[in-house]
Amino acid sequence: MVLLVRAIAFAAHKHKDQRRKDEAASPYINHPVALVDVLVNEAGVNDIDTVIAALLHDTIEDTETTADEIAIHFGDRVAAYVVEVTDDGGLDKASRKQAQIDHAATLSTAARAVKLADKICNLRDVIDSPPAGWPIERCRDYFDWAKQVIDGLRGEHPRLEALFDDVYRRRP
Ligand code: ZN
Repeated sequence: MVLLVRAIAFAAHKHKDQRRKDEAASPYINHPVALVDVLVNEAGVNDIDTVIAALLHDTIEDTETTADEIAIHFGDRVAAYVVEVTDDGGLDKASRKQAQIDHAATLSTAARAVKLADKICNLRDVIDSPPAGWPIERCRDYFDWAKQVIDGLRGEHPRLEALFDDVYRRRP
């Protein structure tokens, strides 16, 4: 409980100036909180390091946070999981998307859970509150790319995979 609350506070602080890409520009922290809700309350995940990694999953990629900083506060395992789900910032956007497909099969069990929850939440957001200015083709491309990533890591999280398949069936 102590670490969980610390992770919520840490993520809220790190993402405090960021907004989501939807029309309403929702606070960014809604996104990691949504992942945790999916993991714990929809999929029954109860591994605390997985839950904390989900809260922190975008901090290295999108804020000034380092893996060392996460390791100091939350341990080496959580830091390793967050690194696993962090895109290589040195690559262009298309290469980063391809890399997610290519690396999916190499992810740890915990990183697979975080990746599944991330894609579930992002697809739900594309349907329910799409990014401002996205034409339907872009929404469809996003769905198809997410499915390619998830198809590469199946077999360890049946409940999360079923939740992903549920939202994928709503492809625009
Ligand atoms: Zn995310």
